[in-house]
Amino acid sequence: MADSDNAVLPVEKKELHVPDYNEVVKVLQDGLKANFSEVSVGVVDCPDLTKEPFTLAAPGLCGRPRMADIGGVPYLMPLVQRHKKYNFQDIAEKIELPGAFLIGAGAGPLHVVGTNSEMMTNINLNNGDNSTYTCKMHTEDENSYILEKGLSLDCSLLANIYASDGKPGKVIEVKASTRTGPENFVTCMRKALKEKYGDKPVGMGGTFIIEKGKAKIHIMPDFSEVPLDSNEKVDQWLKFFDMKAILVCLSVFISHDPGLDLRVEHTHCFNKHDGGGGHYHYDVTPDDVVYHGYFVPSEYMYRIDAPTETHMIGRD
Ligand SMILES: [Zn+2]
Repeated sequence: MADSDNAVLPVEKKELHVPDYNEVVKVLQDGLKANFSEVSVGVVDCPDLTKEPFTLAAPGLCGRPRMADIGGVPYLMPLVQRHKKYNFQDIAEKIELPGAFLIGAGAGPLHVVGTNSEMMTNINLNNGDNSTYTCKMHTEDENSYILEKGLSLDCSLLANIYASDGKPGKVIEVKASTRTGPENFVTCMRKALKEKYGDKPVGMGGTFIIEKGKAKIHIMPDFSEVPLDSNEKVDQWLKFFDMKAILVCLSVFISHDPGLDLRVEHTHCFNKHDGGGGHYHYDVTPDDVVYHGYFVPSEYMYRIDAPTETHMIGRD
């Protein structure tokens, strides 16, 4: 696809349910408590997220919060559609927020990285700060990977993005440690919202740190030559690693899919000190793990360039 073709990308917009923050606090507190031994949730002023350890491209998560689900896994598998690419300046126009601060999870730009890769989107279009990381497998060593920063404002295939003005303001702070249940941090929050709000979609975006412990992370290797037509084949194709704290995670999740063929949660993370990053599955150190994050409920979901032929493989 030529860049100019982005002008005709189909977009569907849905208003999301934005509950009272204090009610969300109680829902998350109760949901996480079933899965972690220590939990603390509250409404706070967003700390300056440009500072360590977050190092995001804007200070806050506030101002016209919205999310976007762009492309999709059906463009990656069974077989890749290499021409599928998106530009974040263009995406910002599509979500009616030029100059947006964008964070989230997606596939790195094939035409820039040279191969398939994981992308940790972190872009402030207002001041031009592109602190996006991509992580790709080493071509000669299947046990090592390469983390790179700020290569491009493009992505390939798919992305799940939280966007805002990047301003300070009220956010929901979540702390959870010592995991006692089977759910990962994000799934636990998503399911708690689903249980409370049913088919009213509540979409959350934000960032969290895994302060202690290790997490199971995948990195996509180069595209499969054989069709990936089952979750088993996907798991055999992906490269899995246990990456250690401190991991900075960029996360988007929604409690209910209002008929948009959404990926209901997607979290990518990076450890710039160890030089790694990728797709978060769950922590592998439940006794030691410490999560600490900030989230904001989104007002809108934008579904951009949804695949017309879809499936549910590879969405975990
Ligand atoms: Zn991912």
